[in-house]
This record gives sequence, C-alpha cells and structure tokens, in this order.
Amino acid sequence: MSLLIKNVSVLTLDEAGSILPTADIAIEGRLIRAIGAAPPDFRPDEVIDGYNHLAVPGFFNAHCHSPMTFERGWAEDLPLDRWFNERIWVAESALTPDDVYWGAALAACEMIRGGTVAFNDHYFYMDRVAEVVEQSGLKATLTWCQFGIGADREVGADLPGALAFVDRWQGGAGGRLRTVLGPHSPYVCPPEFLREISALARENQVPLHIHLAESAAQMANSLAAHGLTPTAHLEACGVFDVPCVAAHALYLAADDVAILARHGVTVARCPITYMKLAMGAHDARPLLAAGVNVALGTDGAGSNGDMDMKAVVRFAALLQKHHTGDAQAMAGDLPLRLATVNGARAMGFPESGVLAPGRAADLALFDLDRPHLYPRHNLVANLVHSARGSDVTHVIVDGRLLYRDGELLTLDEERIMAEADRHARRMVGQPLRIVREYKS
Ligand SMILES: [Zn+2]
Repeated sequence: MSLLIKNVSVLTLDEAGSILPTADIAIEGRLIRAIGAAPPDFRPDEVIDGYNHLAVPGFFNAHCHSPMTFERGWAEDLPLDRWFNERIWVAESALTPDDVYWGAALAACEMIRGGTVAFNDHYFYMDRVAEVVEQSGLKATLTWCQFGIGADREVGADLPGALAFVDRWQGGAGGRLRTVLGPHSPYVCPPEFLREISALARENQVPLHIHLAESAAQMANSLAAHGLTPTAHLEACGVFDVPCVAAHALYLAADDVAILARHGVTVARCPITYMKLAMGAHDARPLLAAGVNVALGTDGAGSNGDMDMKAVVRFAALLQKHHTGDAQAMAGDLPLRLATVNGARAMGFPESGVLAPGRAADLALFDLDRPHLYPRHNLVANLVHSARGSDVTHVIVDGRLLYRDGELLTLDEERIMAEADRHARRMVGQPLRIVREYKS
C-alpha cells in the first residue's frame, strides 16, 4: 500500500520544530518515504489532496482505560474517593468481557476521529481490547490491571494470567501491539505484591504501567505506612527497575523527581481528569527540568468525559499556566510533543511521533479551512489552542488509512454505538456490589 498526500502543510515536530508550508508526503508500506517532493518513481495507490490541511504526528494517548467509555456520565461531580467507591468500582462489579470489547471499540471510534493513533490501556479482559486493536488498525500498549489483594479478587486474570496475556499478544496485530504488566497503584497493591510483580517484570523484561501519587492523602498515608513517599516506596519495591509509565504523579517531593529521572520513568499526565475530580493541578516544570519524559493521556471517559487528545493538549497548556501563574510555561509546541513523540517513546514505539523520512507513517490531517483557524499568524498556536479534534479529516496508522473525510474505514461505527450503549445500560442495571474499597 502506498499513499501520496499532496500540497499539505506539515508540522514535523522534529528537533528543530520544522514547519513546511507546502509539501508532498510519500508513504510506502508502514513508513514515510519522503517529505517535500515525492520521488519521481513513486506510484501511489491513493492520492489525498492536502490543500488547506495540516499534517501532524498522530497522538499517543499515554494513559487511559478505553472500555470506561461505558462509565461516561455515570460518576459525576464526585471527589476521587466517592468516585471510586460509590460509582466506578461498583459498576465494574458487573463487568463482562463483552462490555470491555464494545466499550473499547467505542473509544477506538472516538480516538481515531480525533487524530489519536495509539493508546496505552490499563484495564481488564484485555484480550478483548487486543481484538479491537487488531480490527481498528490502531497501535496500543495493553496491560491487564492487577490489584494484588488475592487471586480471587482480581478481575478476569490473576498475575500468572496477566503474564500469559503479555506473552500471547506481545508484537501482535501485525506488530502494532505491545503488552506490559500493570499493578494498579501503591495505594491498592500491598508492598509484597509490588515486589513480586516487579521481580516478574525484571525476569521477563516486561515494562510496567501504574497509577502514582494522585492526592495529598495518598502522600500522607504512604509516609505513615511505609515512611516513604509513594514514589520512593515504588522505587524500594523495584517497580522502577524496568521501563515504567507512572500515571499522574501529581504529589512529588523534590527527591521524588530525582528518583523518576534516575530510573527513566515516564510520567503520563491527564489534566482534564485533574480538573474534573478536583485532584489538584499539574506542574510539569520540575519533571521537565530534571529530564523526565512527560507524556499526556485522557484517562478513562468516566473522569475525562471523552477520549479527545486534542482537548488534552490544550488543557495541558492551560492548566499549567493557570496553576503556576506562569504564562510562559508549557509554551509553543511543547504540549504537542508531550502528546506525540514522548508518548510514543513511553509506549515502545520510538519510530513514531515525528514526521520525517524513514519514520512510521502515523499521522493525522487537520482541516485548516475552518473559521476558528483563521488567520494563521502562528500555526502551532492555532493547533494547540484553537483546533478541535473534530477538525481531523484523515488518520493514517502504519501507512494505512483508518479515517477519511468523516468515515471510519475499519470499524462499524453505527453498530458499535448501539452495542456499547446497550452493554453500558445492562452493566449499571445489574445488582451492583462493593468489590473493593478506596481508602484515601
Ligand atoms: Zn487511570
């Protein structure tokens, strides 16, 4: 398969931040072959007219729970402890593998429409999410969430089951899939379990994906229970001995930043969730100054409202500026880099995130011919602060068109919306029960 995008503006997000006002992008197989003029011998199977469009690296959603689209609007106006205890975990007591499939498929529709090319997913019954990855054409890094409070209290797979999932799907979906291990968090998982899963990850050379330091109460409780911050506690348990994505990491002591930097941990921030659940604001400046890889995610739609990474990019910049009183923070194309190249690196796709010859053809086209995108004094500012996910017209992953002019090419969107709605209503219509308790 080969594609030629003609006369398109290109935001490369290369190190120099190059922007090409008009170029052709030649895509052959899974890779970008040329940007600028197409090679004379290039014979594309399909030509896309890129006039008045902007090509950008596709978004890497670095922390989410894709099947939680079925909890959209189900846990409103609650703080984190009540959000978990009264709505989210009780609803998930009735979860079935089919719910997971249709919830993830609905998320895939949303993500592709908004220019996302890959997602880092942390949930249950993950074979069903892997099926969605296969069918949708998206890339993903998947983990089967583990609580570590007894095999009978896991959802669908205990630790050997989660490792078997990792082996089953590593490199699957034609190389578009990565799999990792996923302890839920230091506030749910006991220390001995964190040590066990870390040792297993080391032995099998598998990365980890975990939640970390989401509230001041978690910080205080960790100090009381272990004499260590949540970050130092994870380090002591060996969680950072393998590549790790730590979602949130909002409450950090100065030494914690050094720990994250020393171990090359990626911090995935989800600014819309922080605002909606009033979790506190994110300040990425100390992390970035220390050289920590910071990426962005939506988290689940039960806290973010949707799976729109373009909105996350905008709010990552706005919340940072607002919280710190520093209008120069998170400036220029930085939030876009967090959402693309940094996420790609964290998720095990280092060939993605930049538009350049030889790199993976994972990109989105934004229609610039919209009222909110005139004038164009600053194309980057227009993209960060004015463009919408719904301005995306084409999405290409591994050189394959997944979305063209309003039409999803790999997924049956009508059926997915109907089935996801039916499954979500069935799930919350069951007698719900408390399966575990969040203690802040
Ligand atoms: Zn999360």
